Amino acid sequence: MVMKQLRASGGVWLSSGETNLYIDPGPGALVHCLRSKPKLDPAALDGILLTHKHLDHSGDVNVMIEAMTDGGFKKMGILFAPGDALEGDPVVFTYLRDYVKEIVALKEKRDYRIGDIVFSTGQKHRHGVETYGLNFRIASRTVSWITDTRFFPDLPDLYRGEVLIIHVVRLNPIGDDSIDHLSMEDVKTILKKAKPKLTVLTHFGMTMIQAKPWVVAAELEKELKMRIVAASDGLKLNLEEVPT
Ligand SMILES: [Zn+2]
Repeated sequence: MVMKQLRASGGVWLSSGETNLYIDPGPGALVHCLRSKPKLDPAALDGILLTHKHLDHSGDVNVMIEAMTDGGFKKMGILFAPGDALEGDPVVFTYLRDYVKEIVALKEKRDYRIGDIVFSTGQKHRHGVETYGLNFRIASRTVSWITDTRFFPDLPDLYRGEVLIIHVVRLNPIGDDSIDHLSMEDVKTILKKAKPKLTVLTHFGMTMIQAKPWVVAAELEKELKMRIVAASDGLKLNLEEVPT
Protein backbone atom coordinates (compact mmCIF):
# COMPACT_ATOMS: atom_id res chain seq x y z
CA MET A 1 0.00 0.00 0.00
CA VAL A 2 2.79 2.39 0.95
CA MET A 3 4.99 1.63 -2.04
CA LYS A 4 2.10 2.17 -4.46
CA GLN A 5 0.66 5.07 -2.40
CA LEU A 6 -2.85 3.73 -3.00
CA ARG A 7 -3.57 5.29 0.37
CA ALA A 8 -1.54 8.08 1.98
CA SER A 9 0.99 6.94 4.59
CA GLY A 10 1.73 10.25 6.27
CA GLY A 11 0.40 9.62 9.80
CA VAL A 12 -1.81 11.76 12.02
CA TRP A 13 -1.80 15.33 13.32
CA LEU A 14 -3.30 15.56 16.80
CA SER A 15 -4.37 18.93 18.21
CA SER A 16 -5.65 19.81 21.66
CA GLY A 17 -5.81 23.34 23.05
CA GLU A 18 -2.45 24.87 22.24
CA THR A 19 -0.66 21.55 21.72
CA ASN A 20 0.10 19.85 18.42
CA LEU A 21 1.56 16.35 18.25
CA TYR A 22 2.40 14.44 15.11
CA ILE A 23 2.02 10.67 15.26
CA ASP A 24 3.88 8.27 12.96
CA PRO A 25 5.20 10.50 10.16
CA GLY A 26 5.41 7.89 7.41
CA PRO A 27 6.39 8.65 3.81
CA GLY A 28 4.56 11.76 2.61
CA ALA A 29 3.96 13.37 6.01
CA LEU A 30 5.59 16.70 5.15
CA VAL A 31 4.02 16.97 1.71
CA HIS A 32 0.54 16.13 3.02
CA CYS A 33 0.84 18.68 5.85
CA LEU A 34 1.80 21.48 3.50
CA ARG A 35 -0.82 20.55 0.89
CA SER A 36 -3.71 20.15 3.31
CA LYS A 37 -6.36 22.85 3.46
CA PRO A 38 -6.03 24.67 5.75
CA LYS A 39 -2.29 24.07 5.71
CA LEU A 40 -0.79 22.26 8.70
CA ASP A 41 2.44 24.06 9.49
CA PRO A 42 5.05 21.69 11.00
CA ALA A 43 6.63 24.72 12.71
CA ALA A 44 3.53 24.71 14.98
CA LEU A 45 4.31 21.20 16.26
CA ASP A 46 5.22 20.64 19.90
CA GLY A 47 6.30 17.10 19.36
CA ILE A 48 6.54 14.01 17.20
CA LEU A 49 5.74 10.48 18.34
CA LEU A 50 6.71 7.16 16.78
CA THR A 51 4.73 4.09 17.83
CA HIS A 52 7.50 2.02 16.21
CA LYS A 53 10.32 2.40 13.75
CA HIS A 54 8.97 0.62 10.68
CA LEU A 55 9.31 2.74 7.58
CA ASP A 56 5.57 3.22 7.01
CA HIS A 57 5.45 4.97 10.41
CA SER A 58 8.82 6.74 10.43
CA GLY A 59 9.87 7.45 6.83
CA ASP A 60 9.47 11.22 7.24
CA VAL A 61 10.53 11.52 10.89
CA ASN A 62 13.82 13.24 10.06
CA VAL A 63 12.35 15.77 7.66
CA MET A 64 9.50 16.46 10.12
CA ILE A 65 12.04 17.17 12.88
CA GLU A 66 13.77 19.59 10.52
CA ALA A 67 10.44 21.20 9.61
CA MET A 68 9.39 21.51 13.27
CA THR A 69 12.67 23.17 14.21
CA ASP A 70 13.22 25.35 11.13
CA GLY A 71 16.11 23.18 10.02
CA GLY A 72 17.59 23.22 13.51
CA PHE A 73 17.59 27.01 13.92
CA LYS A 74 14.79 26.89 16.50
CA LYS A 75 15.54 24.26 19.10
CA MET A 76 12.15 22.98 20.18
CA GLY A 77 9.79 20.09 20.59
CA ILE A 78 9.84 16.63 22.09
CA LEU A 79 10.47 13.42 20.19
CA PHE A 80 8.85 10.31 21.67
CA ALA A 81 10.08 7.01 20.24
CA PRO A 82 10.77 3.44 21.34
CA GLY A 83 14.41 2.88 22.31
CA ASP A 84 15.14 0.72 19.27
CA ALA A 85 14.20 3.60 16.95
CA LEU A 86 17.08 5.55 18.48
CA GLU A 87 19.76 2.88 18.96
CA GLY A 88 21.26 -0.05 17.08
CA ASP A 89 19.66 0.47 13.68
CA PRO A 90 18.15 3.90 14.38
CA VAL A 91 15.67 5.73 12.16
CA VAL A 92 16.39 9.17 13.68
CA PHE A 93 19.64 10.67 12.38
CA THR A 94 22.09 11.57 15.14
CA TYR A 95 22.99 14.92 13.55
CA LEU A 96 19.53 16.36 14.17
CA ARG A 97 18.92 15.02 17.67
CA ASP A 98 20.14 18.32 19.11
CA TYR A 99 17.44 20.16 17.17
CA VAL A 100 14.74 19.00 19.58
CA LYS A 101 14.53 20.03 23.22
CA GLU A 102 14.02 16.53 24.50
CA ILE A 103 14.07 12.94 23.29
CA VAL A 104 11.96 10.54 25.33
CA ALA A 105 12.50 6.80 24.87
CA LEU A 106 9.07 5.24 25.32
CA LYS A 107 8.70 2.34 27.73
CA GLU A 108 5.74 0.04 28.24
CA LYS A 109 2.93 0.99 30.62
CA ARG A 110 4.18 4.49 31.41
CA ASP A 111 2.49 7.89 31.53
CA TYR A 112 3.60 10.89 29.48
CA ARG A 113 2.53 14.46 28.95
CA ILE A 114 3.11 17.00 26.21
CA GLY A 115 1.33 20.29 26.87
CA ASP A 116 -2.43 19.67 26.87
CA ILE A 117 -2.09 16.04 25.76
CA VAL A 118 -1.67 13.26 28.30
CA PHE A 119 -1.03 9.69 27.19
CA SER A 120 0.17 6.32 28.33
CA THR A 121 1.69 3.33 26.58
CA GLY A 122 0.27 -0.17 26.70
CA GLN A 123 2.36 -3.29 26.99
CA LYS A 124 4.74 -4.08 24.13
CA HIS A 125 2.96 -5.17 20.99
CA ARG A 126 3.76 -8.32 19.06
CA HIS A 127 5.26 -6.70 16.02
CA GLY A 128 8.93 -7.57 15.41
CA VAL A 129 10.29 -4.18 16.49
CA GLU A 130 9.60 -2.33 19.76
CA THR A 131 6.01 -1.12 19.33
CA TYR A 132 3.59 0.65 21.66
CA GLY A 133 -0.10 1.36 21.42
CA LEU A 134 -1.37 4.48 23.15
CA ASN A 135 -4.15 5.71 25.40
CA PHE A 136 -4.73 9.45 25.18
CA ARG A 137 -6.62 11.79 27.45
CA ILE A 138 -7.46 14.80 25.31
CA ALA A 139 -9.60 17.47 26.99
CA SER A 140 -12.36 15.34 28.53
CA ARG A 141 -12.13 12.54 25.97
CA THR A 142 -10.26 9.25 25.94
CA VAL A 143 -8.76 7.93 22.72
CA SER A 144 -7.10 4.55 22.32
CA TRP A 145 -4.68 3.87 19.54
CA ILE A 146 -4.00 0.26 18.56
CA THR A 147 -1.07 0.52 16.20
CA ASP A 148 0.45 -2.48 14.40
CA THR A 149 0.41 -5.75 16.31
CA ARG A 150 -0.46 -9.40 16.08
CA PHE A 151 -3.51 -10.18 18.20
CA PHE A 152 -2.92 -11.10 21.85
CA PRO A 153 -5.59 -11.72 24.49
CA ASP A 154 -4.82 -8.62 26.60
CA LEU A 155 -5.43 -6.25 23.67
CA PRO A 156 -9.12 -5.41 24.35
CA ASP A 157 -8.45 -4.66 28.03
CA LEU A 158 -5.44 -2.45 27.31
CA TYR A 159 -7.35 -0.05 25.08
CA ARG A 160 -10.65 1.12 26.56
CA GLY A 161 -10.90 4.66 25.16
CA GLU A 162 -14.24 6.13 24.03
CA VAL A 163 -12.67 6.50 20.60
CA LEU A 164 -10.66 3.60 19.22
CA ILE A 165 -8.32 4.03 16.28
CA ILE A 166 -7.23 0.61 15.10
CA HIS A 167 -4.79 -0.57 12.45
CA VAL A 168 -6.33 -3.40 10.47
CA VAL A 169 -4.29 -4.84 7.61
CA ARG A 170 -6.08 -8.06 6.66
CA LEU A 171 -9.66 -8.77 5.73
CA ASN A 172 -9.35 -12.49 6.48
CA PRO A 173 -8.01 -14.18 9.64
CA ILE A 174 -4.22 -14.17 10.10
CA GLY A 175 -4.10 -17.78 11.37
CA ASP A 176 -0.52 -19.08 11.45
CA ASP A 177 0.73 -16.64 8.79
CA SER A 178 3.93 -14.87 9.75
CA ILE A 179 2.35 -11.44 9.56
CA ASP A 180 2.22 -9.49 12.82
CA HIS A 181 -0.94 -7.56 12.05
CA LEU A 182 -4.64 -7.56 12.90
CA SER A 183 -7.45 -8.92 10.76
CA MET A 184 -11.12 -7.91 10.76
CA GLU A 185 -11.82 -11.00 12.86
CA ASP A 186 -9.39 -9.66 15.50
CA VAL A 187 -11.04 -6.23 15.32
CA LYS A 188 -14.42 -7.82 15.96
CA THR A 189 -13.07 -9.68 19.01
CA ILE A 190 -11.59 -6.43 20.37
CA LEU A 191 -14.70 -4.31 19.76
CA LYS A 192 -17.05 -6.79 21.43
CA LYS A 193 -15.03 -6.47 24.61
CA ALA A 194 -13.71 -2.89 24.54
CA LYS A 195 -17.02 -1.36 23.34
CA PRO A 196 -15.76 2.04 22.15
CA LYS A 197 -18.26 4.80 21.30
CA LEU A 198 -16.56 5.31 17.95
CA THR A 199 -14.12 3.08 16.07
CA VAL A 200 -11.95 4.29 13.22
CA LEU A 201 -10.43 1.57 11.04
CA THR A 202 -7.18 2.54 9.30
CA HIS A 203 -3.81 1.25 7.96
CA PHE A 204 -5.41 -1.06 5.39
CA GLY A 205 -3.63 -3.74 3.43
CA MET A 206 -4.59 -4.75 -0.10
CA THR A 207 -7.32 -7.22 0.91
CA MET A 208 -9.06 -4.48 2.91
CA ILE A 209 -8.83 -2.01 0.04
CA GLN A 210 -10.19 -4.57 -2.42
CA ALA A 211 -13.14 -5.23 -0.10
CA LYS A 212 -13.78 -1.45 0.15
CA PRO A 213 -13.07 -0.43 3.76
CA TRP A 214 -16.24 1.70 3.98
CA VAL A 215 -18.34 -1.36 3.06
CA VAL A 216 -16.49 -3.54 5.59
CA ALA A 217 -17.00 -0.86 8.27
CA ALA A 218 -20.71 -0.48 7.46
CA GLU A 219 -21.28 -4.25 7.66
CA LEU A 220 -19.52 -4.53 11.01
CA GLU A 221 -21.39 -1.48 12.30
CA LYS A 222 -24.68 -3.23 11.48
CA GLU A 223 -23.57 -6.52 13.00
CA LEU A 224 -22.20 -5.08 16.27
CA LYS A 225 -24.57 -2.11 16.50
CA MET A 226 -21.64 0.18 17.21
CA ARG A 227 -20.39 3.30 15.40
CA ILE A 228 -17.58 2.20 13.07
CA VAL A 229 -16.01 4.21 10.25
CA ALA A 230 -13.21 3.54 7.80
CA ALA A 231 -10.55 6.23 7.58
CA SER A 232 -9.95 7.99 4.28
CA ASP A 233 -7.02 10.19 3.31
CA GLY A 234 -7.33 13.60 4.93
CA LEU A 235 -10.02 12.45 7.39
CA LYS A 236 -10.59 15.06 10.07
CA LEU A 237 -12.06 13.82 13.34
CA ASN A 238 -13.43 16.33 15.83
CA LEU A 239 -13.30 14.66 19.24
CA GLU A 240 -15.77 17.18 20.66
CA GLU A 241 -18.41 15.80 18.29
CA VAL A 242 -18.03 12.19 19.35
CA PRO A 243 -21.14 11.16 21.31
CA THR A 244 -20.54 10.40 24.98
ZN1 LIG B 1 2.54 -0.21 9.80
